Amino acid sequence: MPSERDLSASPPPPGSVPLIRGARVHGRSGLVDVYVRDGKVSALVPAGTGGAADSGTGRSADSGAGRAIDSGAGGAIDSLDARGGLVSRAFTEPHYHPDKAYSRSLAPAGARDGFERARLIKAGFTVEDVTERATRALRLAASGGVTRLRANVDVDSVSGLRGLYGVLAARERVAHLMDVEIVAFPQEGLARDPGTRDLLAEALRSGASLIGGWPNVEDGAEAQRASVRETFDLAERFGVGVDIHADCAIDPAETMLEYIAEETVRRGYQGRVVASHCCGLEVYDDTDAARVVAAVAEADVRIVVVPLNLVDGGPRGLSRPLELTAAGALVAAGSDNMNDGWYALGTLDPLDRARMTFLGAGFEDEGAVDLAWEMVSGRAAAVLGGRDGDIEVGADADLVLFDAPDRGTVLAGLPGTRTTFRRGRLVGRRVTDARLGNRTAHPAARGAAG
Ligand SMILES: [Zn+2]
Repeated sequence: MPSERDLSASPPPPGSVPLIRGARVHGRSGLVDVYVRDGKVSALVPAGTGGAADSGTGRSADSGAGRAIDSGAGGAIDSLDARGGLVSRAFTEPHYHPDKAYSRSLAPAGARDGFERARLIKAGFTVEDVTERATRALRLAASGGVTRLRANVDVDSVSGLRGLYGVLAARERVAHLMDVEIVAFPQEGLARDPGTRDLLAEALRSGASLIGGWPNVEDGAEAQRASVRETFDLAERFGVGVDIHADCAIDPAETMLEYIAEETVRRGYQGRVVASHCCGLEVYDDTDAARVVAAVAEADVRIVVVPLNLVDGGPRGLSRPLELTAAGALVAAGSDNMNDGWYALGTLDPLDRARMTFLGAGFEDEGAVDLAWEMVSGRAAAVLGGRDGDIEVGADADLVLFDAPDRGTVLAGLPGTRTTFRRGRLVGRRVTDARLGNRTAHPAARGAAG
C-alpha cells in the first residue's frame, strides 16, 4: 500500500488534471486524486491538492453508463469523479485455458468424462475458431478488470499447434486490453502422447514463453516423476519458466507437488515454477501436508488454486491456501476453465475467484478479505513474477475503480460499477445494477448523489 511518502512525492505539474478524483485507496484514510503520465501512476495526492485546483475542469465520464467499453483508441475522458469509491490496481488472471473458451456446445454426446469431452472438442479446433472464442473470453476477463493473464494452451497430437496459433492471434486482438503470456500445456501427457514432445519444442519457438505439464496423467509413479523431470529438461533447454498442473484430484494418492518442489531445488529453479491445483495436499494427513507445505515454501514454488471448478461431478478442492501463505509461499487464485469440456459454467471474474476462495478455504480471520483480494491482485501478479502490492506511484496505471468504498463491500457482491483503466486509458465499465448501484447500495454513491 502507498506510504505517506508516496502521497507527497511526485507532485503533479501545475495545471495537470487527475485521471481519477476523490478515490479511496485501501489502507489509507481520506480521498486521493490519481495522476497518470505516460501510462504510469505519476502522483497520488490528497484530493483537491494537486496541480489543478479546479479539478472539475476535466470532462467527467458518464458514471451512469451501463455497458462495457472496449475502446482500442482509448477512453475519451480526461478525469473521472470517483465519488469516494475504491481505486485498486487491476487484476491478474494467473491460470486460464482460452483455447477451450465457449466450446462446451461443440461437445459430441456421450463423452465419459471431462477429459474425453475436452479431447473430442479440441479435435475439431481450427485456428480461426480458437481465435474467435479466445478473443471473446479475453475481452470478458478485461471487462472484469483483468489486465494481465497467463494462458495455458493445449499442445498435443490431437490439436497440434492450432490452439497456440489461435490464442496468439487473440492476444494480438486484445493487446490494448491486457498482457497475455502463454504456457505450452501437454494436456494429453508426454509418455501417453509421444508426439507432444516435438510439438512443445515447436510451441516454445513459436510464441509460448513457459513450459507446462500434467504429470499425474501418466501411468504410474515413476512415469509421473519422469514427466516432471522432462518438463524441467525442456524448461532448461529453452531457458523458460515452468507452470505445471499438479495433483488436480482431491486424492491423497496425488503426490506430484512434493516432487516438483524437490526438482525445483535440484535444478536451481527457485522462483521460476508455478504449480496449479495442488488438491492432493488438501487431503494429506496433517503431518504429510506440513512437510509438503514447507518444501513448497522452501523451493519458492508458487501456487495457483482454482476454486471454481468441478471434476466429474465432485469438488475440485482448494489445496491449503492459508497454510501455504502462512509458511511464506506465494499463493494466487485462478479461473482454470469456463464453458468448455471440463467445466460448463465460469465467468472469468476475478471477484468470483476471490469470493469462492474465501468461502471454500474457510477464510474468516482478520485479514481474510485482504488475502482473498490479493490472491487475484498483487499476489497473483507476484506469482507470475510481477510486482506485488496495490496502486503505487511509478507503476503502470492499470487500475480498477469501484463505486463501493472498500474491498469488503466490493467482494460482498453488491450491485455496483467497475471501471477499468489500462495504462491510464478507460477500457471497460461493468455495471451490475445501475439503478441500485449508483443510487442506493453504497455509502460513497449516496453522498455523490446528494
Ligand atoms: Zn488448468
